[in-house]
Amino acid sequence: MDLSQLKSDLGGIRMEDNEKIVLQKSRDFYWYSPVLKRQLDHVTADLVVTPTSKDELLRVMAACWRHDIPVTPRGTGTGNYGQAMPLSGGVLLDLSALDKVLDIRPGQVTTEPGAILAKIDRQTREHSAQELRLHPSTYNTASLGGFIAGGSGGVGSIKWGGLRDFGNVIALEVATMEEEPRLLKLSGADLHKVCHAYGTNGIITEVTVPLAPAYRWVDVIIGFPTLRQAAEYANDLGEQDGLAIKELAVVAAPVPHDYFLRHKKYLARDRHAVIVMVADFALDAMLALTDRYKTADVLFNAGGMDAAELKGLPPAFELAWNHTTLRALRVDPAITYLQVLYPYPNQIELVEKIHDRFGDEVPAHLEFVRFDGKVTCFGLPLVRFTSEERLEEIMAIHEDMGAPIFNPHRYTLEEGGMKQTDEVQLAFKREADPKGLLNPGKMIAWENPDFDFTSEKTYLFPGLQKAG
Ligand SMILES: Cc1cc2nc3c(=O)[nH]c(=O)nc-3n(C[C@H](O)[C@H](O)[C@H](O)COP(=O)(O)OP(=O)(O)OC[C@H]3O[C@@H](n4cnc5c(N)ncnc54)[C@H](O)[C@@H]3O)c2cc1C
Repeated sequence: MDLSQLKSDLGGIRMEDNEKIVLQKSRDFYWYSPVLKRQLDHVTADLVVTPTSKDELLRVMAACWRHDIPVTPRGTGTGNYGQAMPLSGGVLLDLSALDKVLDIRPGQVTTEPGAILAKIDRQTREHSAQELRLHPSTYNTASLGGFIAGGSGGVGSIKWGGLRDFGNVIALEVATMEEEPRLLKLSGADLHKVCHAYGTNGIITEVTVPLAPAYRWVDVIIGFPTLRQAAEYANDLGEQDGLAIKELAVVAAPVPHDYFLRHKKYLARDRHAVIVMVADFALDAMLALTDRYKTADVLFNAGGMDAAELKGLPPAFELAWNHTTLRALRVDPAITYLQVLYPYPNQIELVEKIHDRFGDEVPAHLEFVRFDGKVTCFGLPLVRFTSEERLEEIMAIHEDMGAPIFNPHRYTLEEGGMKQTDEVQLAFKREADPKGLLNPGKMIAWENPDFDFTSEKTYLFPGLQKAG
């Protein structure tokens, strides 16, 4: 890899080759998984390049194309599966300096890819009392480009569904990896070419997403003596069409009490928690519904608390999604997690059956979402990790019981997703990255077209060894 030639071609563009800094920027939250931690710990880029304009970005891509140098894009590196880790070394393309909000209008916002979600919301709220429909729980640190390329949904999904559902992204501009990089405008069905493609087939240079009214959201936590009651209540709450709700999660006891340290004094160790973000004007209606549940206990209601009491408490969404896992990991580093689908309409029965099967080895964590128009729940259960063999066994038992796993212990698109080739993304990679330089090792369909997804073997990218 001829880096000296590349560096001279990139004169005037911000670069970093200090080994420690490069290593630090080559990480994401892969260490959530003991499997990925073992496989990826040594991975590092050779150089971090930070373009500050689209022209600089295109120059970087053209130069890397000329010198056959791999390029791995990075927003802010909060992905969980090693998505932004450069398995073949080369250039780590740091997009964090492309962070401008470009245009705000009724119902939509356009930004550069590195814009941080919370910063976008601050500007859209100030501009016209609007906010992003969807954001991950890493709202305060993640970029919009990284969310679209690496995320799936999150806060807001109870109302708006997943990131890849029609309408949740309006348009993207994508730079290709060619001798003369092109800027392509994608909309409609074409968005599927690059949404959740881990930056393997183009660099997102502009994003347009829809906005929703910005309400004042109130955090509420309700406790129940059984997981089933908590899940039934959450499902009912999610189905209340008139209630403006932005987040709706269930976390099994004793996780909330043991790991939500700053909320601990409000939580009881034997209560399964339902975590809700509700619009202030809908709070009374939500509490009226809650009153119908005889075993419900409102443990925490930010609506009735003053600023002094709320000071220092994280927002409810930072107890949910993968922040639940993070809070558990901070107390018990042996914890890891799974991603589970409980198919509609039997989601509650299945949740209860699986919870009964594993007990406290796999404490339940449900995120209620609108999925194909129906309210249902995904699982991000915690796992009290003992060995990789047992982890595999736990996943196999879930699948046998009818709950498909989206494996968060794999770094490839396919193994973490539907375990099959995405022909649309693969075709776009052939067009937009013919040399295969973008984020190598993450798309099996490109690296090893003959890989048998039914073999139950884990894909191991050959270039991974070279990066060590
Ligand atoms: C505590 C915690 C909570 C989380 N909660 C959620 C959640 O609720 N929902 C959810 O979906 N995810 C969640 N995640 C995962 C992650 O935070 C989000 O997906 C986040 O949006 C990623 O943004 P990022 O800027 O950090 O992207 P990065 O991690 O930097 O990148 C993610 C992927 O996108 C690629 N990429 C980045 N920028 C571009 C670009 N401009 N063009 C092309 N490819 C690009 C990278 O190569 C990588 O493959 C969570 C993670 C943690 C650690």
